[in-house]
Amino acid sequence: MSRQDYEVVIGLEVHAELSTKTKIFCSCPTEFGGEPNTHCCPICMALPGTLPVLNEKVVEYAVKAGLATNCEISKNSKNDRKNYFYPDLPKAYQISQFDMPLCEKGYIEIELDDGTTKKIRLTRIHIEEDAGKLNHDDFGGGSLVDLNRAGVPLIEMVSEPDIRSSEEAEKYLRKIKSILEYIEVSDCKMQEGSLRADVNVSVRKKGEEKLGTRTEMKNMNSFRSIVRGIEYEIDRQIDVIEEGGKVEQETLRWDDVSGRTFSMRDKEDAQDYRYFPDPDLVAIKLSEEYIENIRKTLPELPESRRKRYIEEYNLSERDANLITASKYLSDLFEGTTKICNNPKAVSNWILSDISRILNEREMEPNQIPFGKEYLAQLIELIEKGTISSAIAKKVLEELFENPKEPSKIIEEKGWIQISDEGAIKEVVLKIIEENPQSVSDYKGGKERALGFLVGQAMKQTKGKANPQMLNKMFIEEMQK
Ligand code: ADP
Ligand code: ZN
Ligand code: MG
Repeated sequence: MSRQDYEVVIGLEVHAELSTKTKIFCSCPTEFGGEPNTHCCPICMALPGTLPVLNEKVVEYAVKAGLATNCEISKNSKNDRKNYFYPDLPKAYQISQFDMPLCEKGYIEIELDDGTTKKIRLTRIHIEEDAGKLNHDDFGGGSLVDLNRAGVPLIEMVSEPDIRSSEEAEKYLRKIKSILEYIEVSDCKMQEGSLRADVNVSVRKKGEEKLGTRTEMKNMNSFRSIVRGIEYEIDRQIDVIEEGGKVEQETLRWDDVSGRTFSMRDKEDAQDYRYFPDPDLVAIKLSEEYIENIRKTLPELPESRRKRYIEEYNLSERDANLITASKYLSDLFEGTTKICNNPKAVSNWILSDISRILNEREMEPNQIPFGKEYLAQLIELIEKGTISSAIAKKVLEELFENPKEPSKIIEEKGWIQISDEGAIKEVVLKIIEENPQSVSDYKGGKERALGFLVGQAMKQTKGKANPQMLNKMFIEEMQK
């Protein structure tokens, strides 16, 4: 049997750090980084005799996430202790939620490549505290504990095993990321670990009812490694089965360098954690009114914006997906379009040149150093014929370097388009004289020669000549 005979089953547990100012059970800052052990107090260091107090904002943010993902919000909920020992967890238990999570039975929609949408169900969203961090010290040969992250609030979003491929897993996680960014409850910086996923993978023969045995890759924090890790696990598990073996249920670590998974430990069951209600914290009781008030604060979500961009602005399905995936790009798109009223041009600039520059510079959309006003002006300058689109690309680079009004940039750089007939004619005649071969090629029917001549003229004028005028005038002159 081959890979085609198997069905892949994936479920994700996504952890997102909430962007509250203070930690979940004390008033230490949640800020990332800082000198080790400077963002902590007796409570998050777990000194004996200290008592936690639940940060109200954490509940608010988690409820917001639940509402944005179509969950039912529990009016009665509580915190439980999940007992395990690890050096980055000095209490020897994590305060989490066991059998009464804050949110249950939600779903999100992902858009598949064939244009259809698919619902991925969420089993639950619960709140919990993050652990500290171990810094492995290569010189001293030991490990140093940093508790700055201990007690940073997390939500864990657990999906049903509804995902069927690595592409769907990536789409699902991107959707979660974009929703959390829209509702502003997490900064979702994957490289800082604010958004990370445990990825559960199993395979079963097509047509089989029962789920296969899953393995779980812990703490994945890039889309690329999630896709690679899933692909690796699918192949590995199928190989094991094809060779007559059995997949072991275990916890794995994905290694990006060697491109394979390593076994960390046997899978633990809920009973291994000896969960019990935390006696130091009161139950969480939410009123209908409280939940409805939070619902009222929800902004328009990516799904609704996507549909609106297709209907209202005539964007293609693909462009609307790409733009609404990022709240920042989506805001930029709408803001700019309101000023210059040219949605097609705005979406082209955002999805081609701006996205390319962001990639090259490894920047996030929210680091774009200019706003809608400058982008709108840039587009208007092209529409008016003040600059060519070639120059506009240079202006855009300059906006990233040293943002100021595009009209000022082109004035300072002397980049205003030459649209003066006399000046254009002068250049055309010069290029014709210098390239007799291309002229006779063109006259002999080689259309491409015209492109070459226009290119030479552009070079001569450093991209400033009006290309439509050049084209027209070359043809006129060569027909004489
Ligand atoms: P645990 O904390 O023990 O990993 P959870 O219930 O929190 O358990 O999460 C289990 C995750 O694994 C869920 O996302 C679920 O959808 C997924 N899952 C469960 N069974 C399978 C399976 N056979 N194959 C793939 N994923 C699975
Ligand atoms: Zn603290
Ligand atoms: Mg798990």
